[in-house]
Amino acid sequence: MLNLKTPIDKTFHIKPAQAEKLKKLGITAVGDFLFHFPARYDDLSNLVSISEIIPEQSATVSGEIIKFALKRSWHKKISIIEIQLRDETGIIRATWFNQKYLIDVFSKNKFIRLSGKAKLDKNGFYFSNPIWEVADKNPNHTGRIVPIYPETRGITSKWLRWQIETIFKNDFDIVDPLPVEILKKYHLPTLKKALYDVHFPRSENSYLVAQKRFAFFDMFLIQLRALQIKKQLKKESAQELEFPTEKIKKFLASLPFSLTNDQKKAFTEIKKDLTKKHPMNRLLNGDVGSGKTIVAILAALQTSTNGFQAAIMAPTEVLAYQHFENFSKLLADFDISIGLLTNSYKLVYGSRSTVHGREGKVIGHRSLVSLKNSKLIQNSKLEIENYSTAKISRETMLEEIKVGNIDIVIGTHAIIQKDIRFKNLALIIIDEQHRFGVMQRSYLQQKITEINDGLPDKIPHLLSMTATPIPRTISMTLLGSLDVSLITEMPKNRKPIITKVILPDKQNEVYNFIRQEIKNGRQAFVIFPLVEESEKLAEVKAAVTEHARLLRDVFPEFKLGLLHGRMKSKEKEEIMLNFKNKKTDILVSTSVIEVGIDIPNATVMIVEEAYRFGLSQLHQFRGRVGRGEFQSYCFLFAKNSTTRLRILEKYTDGFKVAQEDLEIRGPGDFLGNRQSGLADSTMQNITNIKMIKCAYEEAREIINHDVALKNNLLLKEELEKMNRNIHLE
Ligand code: ADP
Ligand code: MG
Repeated sequence: MLNLKTPIDKTFHIKPAQAEKLKKLGITAVGDFLFHFPARYDDLSNLVSISEIIPEQSATVSGEIIKFALKRSWHKKISIIEIQLRDETGIIRATWFNQKYLIDVFSKNKFIRLSGKAKLDKNGFYFSNPIWEVADKNPNHTGRIVPIYPETRGITSKWLRWQIETIFKNDFDIVDPLPVEILKKYHLPTLKKALYDVHFPRSENSYLVAQKRFAFFDMFLIQLRALQIKKQLKKESAQELEFPTEKIKKFLASLPFSLTNDQKKAFTEIKKDLTKKHPMNRLLNGDVGSGKTIVAILAALQTSTNGFQAAIMAPTEVLAYQHFENFSKLLADFDISIGLLTNSYKLVYGSRSTVHGREGKVIGHRSLVSLKNSKLIQNSKLEIENYSTAKISRETMLEEIKVGNIDIVIGTHAIIQKDIRFKNLALIIIDEQHRFGVMQRSYLQQKITEINDGLPDKIPHLLSMTATPIPRTISMTLLGSLDVSLITEMPKNRKPIITKVILPDKQNEVYNFIRQEIKNGRQAFVIFPLVEESEKLAEVKAAVTEHARLLRDVFPEFKLGLLHGRMKSKEKEEIMLNFKNKKTDILVSTSVIEVGIDIPNATVMIVEEAYRFGLSQLHQFRGRVGRGEFQSYCFLFAKNSTTRLRILEKYTDGFKVAQEDLEIRGPGDFLGNRQSGLADSTMQNITNIKMIKCAYEEAREIINHDVALKNNLLLKEELEKMNRNIHLE
């Protein structure tokens, strides 16, 4: 009998070329075939006559091929197979693109069945790329509920179904990792039955029940993992950092504003975590502009007051630099030295005694590296009596960090490089953590445990921050191992951004409005669509063209910058800085535009073809404006007014927008399936609170008795497999 590990080439007649392609789909063994789930199902269960066909509705028809031709499109490269199919009631056309092999399959007078969505043009009804099957065979592929698999060139759904059928015919050994009691309790099918029903469902219900089982199992594993991580962290030690009441009071009093309630609440949670002897693992989730930085500064201040080091890591140099400015400015009276370590910048800020006497020559604020015109620097306390900023070499920087002369180290991931040694690093803050990307993130987490923090037997507390509002259901499922602090409230002085959906006939008015704003000294963004990886090249082209068009036809009197994904990061930062320093009036950008960068003077944003973006992403874009004292505006250009975009006119709260977005697009698109590596069916259930809760309860039951899963080896194995394949948090 087969088992899941049986290699496919041993079992089936699979040609080397096919094996190669299957490998691309991740299929090398019987089990991979079985777990290669359909991406969707087409319900083809009712056969109709050709005369009964309704435009734009799925139908299956059966008939005889009466005409058959191979054509070439005007693109030349694309081949088109066209047939005419006849039954007793009428004739329908069908075309397939780039499936030349069909020449050998079809012939005149052959009987076939076709399934697809019928379309109507001036010549009558036709199918485009329908599913087909020779009609006299047993109705395996059409005429019922047909699973459609993720395909690759040369591996069709049809072929996959046939292979999987063979596996079931041969029968195979499989052990169900879900304990029987759980199956019984929730009326879930066994693994083997669920596998069968997922591939060969007799009804919609049968695949839905099977999918539910797989989703439950995934969620159960996710909860197991989260609880495991939590328990393991409880076993680790971290530095206890007392709460410095007086210092914090003094700091808060020095701020030009008072904290919002949410900021207070978040910091209360964080400061408590920091006093514990086990590492904090907390996510600070607050909308763009909600004031996460202050909370981070407070945590860093608590750390350094206790005599320990803190590190803040940002995804880009510009963001790191901005933090350096903010920290330096706000901590100027606290006898703290701050280092900025990125590839291009090695700066240290601190009391003159720290900065002087080292290799660094103290440089005045106006010549501060390449950031001469930075307003912040000019207005900041960076030049007060006893403090200064100096440029130092990388070696000096590393030495200063190692001996503990630098209390707060700010940087890009340059700060977790191998040769960096801390004297006593007790807190790591990761800003805009979502921006580090999925792969890098798991890498980051691993790196952090390996970091040479100078505290043997202890690991640093970790605070991650993200400006992507995460709806509660999602964070319950996917972020179970983290404690989450939310900032949903904006500072009071903030003027909500006025958002409007703009139809083509009103675009000129918007351009005029921008002209006016720029004449009043403000700046504007124009954001471009095209978000898919595959569109990268097209994106660049479109952005360049649009930049040229705006410059020539719309805003010839202004200076326009251009930013896109094909630029080197150095180049991107320079363009951002030019904009920040008002050397350009309008920044035309693709979706690569920096998250978190503060350009208080930019007050208007246009998002072109806004309907191509998700609401959450649009909300992120809009957060680039409205960061200063001025009223800000976001104009969403669209072809026609959609209710979806109007949600942004209505809500300025990112959590509300995210929740709506989630409901409209579904969890898969909201999170991006490929991002997480979770199955579609799991994604569809990810907001199912009842299921999450049950999965959590069952997982807790097990972890309470058996953290390492020593008595649940099957589960342990499955968990390891999941850890390899998916990326959460
Ligand atoms: P984000 O959460 O996006 O990182 P920031 O921390 O950069 O937001 O804060 C955005 C701006 O709001 C900063 O200029 C900051 O000084 C200001 N800010 C933060 N907290 C408050 C507050 N409680 N009241 C008024 N302004 C605040
Ligand atoms: Mg920020």
